[in-house]
Amino acid sequence: MHRLLEDPAVVEFEAKLGRGAVKRAVEQVLYRARASGEPPTYEAVLTAVLARLGDAALQELTPVINATGIIAHTNLGRVPLAHDALSAVERLSHGYSNLEYDLAAGERGSRYDRVTDVLCEVTGAPDALVVNNCAAAVLLVLDTFAKGREVVVARSQLVEIGGGFRLPDVLERSGAVLREVGTTNRVYSSDYEAALCARTALLLRTHPSNYRIEGFVNEVGGAELAALGRRAGVAVVEDLGNGLLVDLAEYGLPHERTVQDCLADGIELVTFSGDKLLGGPQAGAIVGESRAIARLRANPLLRALRVDKMTLAALAATLHLHCDRTSRARIPFYRMLATSLDELRERARAYVAAVPGAAIVDSDAYVGGGALPQMPIASIAVALSPERPDVLAARLRRDTPAIVGRVDAGRLLFDLRTVAPEEDDTVIATLTWAPDVFEA
Ligand SMILES: *Cc1c(COP(=O)(O)O)cnc(C)c1O
Repeated sequence: MHRLLEDPAVVEFEAKLGRGAVKRAVEQVLYRARASGEPPTYEAVLTAVLARLGDAALQELTPVINATGIIAHTNLGRVPLAHDALSAVERLSHGYSNLEYDLAAGERGSRYDRVTDVLCEVTGAPDALVVNNCAAAVLLVLDTFAKGREVVVARSQLVEIGGGFRLPDVLERSGAVLREVGTTNRVYSSDYEAALCARTALLLRTHPSNYRIEGFVNEVGGAELAALGRRAGVAVVEDLGNGLLVDLAEYGLPHERTVQDCLADGIELVTFSGDKLLGGPQAGAIVGESRAIARLRANPLLRALRVDKMTLAALAATLHLHCDRTSRARIPFYRMLATSLDELRERARAYVAAVPGAAIVDSDAYVGGGALPQMPIASIAVALSPERPDVLAARLRRDTPAIVGRVDAGRLLFDLRTVAPEEDDTVIATLTWAPDVFEA
């Protein structure tokens, strides 16, 4: 036991898992070894201990190098945060702050006022509110305006965005009654109009974040729906999800609906995530008409959905960076989007020079995060062609930091658009020095 706990290979795990967990793992392996009768060799026990610790370490939250080419990758923590956001967290969380204190008046203030100004400035909305995530934002809106009443949604927009968010289920949990209109592929203004009745609380538009319906289709645009809502005296809400604040045409992509577009259409409330195309921390923003936001603020449910100071600090800093294109480049999401093919090719050459058998290939990166699911972004990948690409992929996932690539047509691809330039050396070193890489 003592010898095992002193073994340098075992000691290495203490930093990650803590001494207690390491000791328990050793005890369990020894217990099993004794129970099996036959006394095992020290080497066999050590191998079993290291395998067990390795598995345990994979369950811990650990850094990953994203070489998949999907920029906002939900499984990999969605988006990396800007340094500005991280230093704001450090600056405002290391000590005390005016989180709920009005420094001018010397009395209690509201945490919800902290990011309102910058959210309004960036989106052009009259008022704003921040909660834990976009799912919470939708829930709060429905609970406030639609409990026991009807919400009209087009059948083509009854989304499931993954991770358990299904719009019909969220509606049901909030106590609202779903009133579906239109068919799978077509919905008209007249469908919404026919559904209006005394029980109608809201007209809800959602963004088909991760799918497209193509062919014989018809949608009711935001402006048309907002006009209908105004005529009928019913509020129109749009769940934009991805939280895009920027015209993607600036980055050579097709224009995608932005928060500003929704507001310009006359939508009363828009909900969106902080950690998708906004490039910030997990959060849910609601922007729109002051009277509607005031009612949301008065809902006691808000207390259960409230955000931490670290989130507010990171979100405010990220929103400040959105003020112009130069500062926006400090948000990792936009830096990755803006990287030129020449730059990626240049970096790829360093890989090829160092890693035997590596080749430079064209690749398709994706925005991810519920936007442009069918719009590949031209990218560059480094390709390896080992005998068993899946085995090599699994081996790299166990590395520290883990490297996650993409297996494609018998090759393992490392798309450099989502690898930070400062991570290149680590990836190159792993691919060059890992002795079993090419036997994998
Ligand atoms: C992503 C998304 C959500 C959920 O956002 P979270 O911040 O993950 O809660 C809700 N609606 C739409 C349309 C989305 O794309």
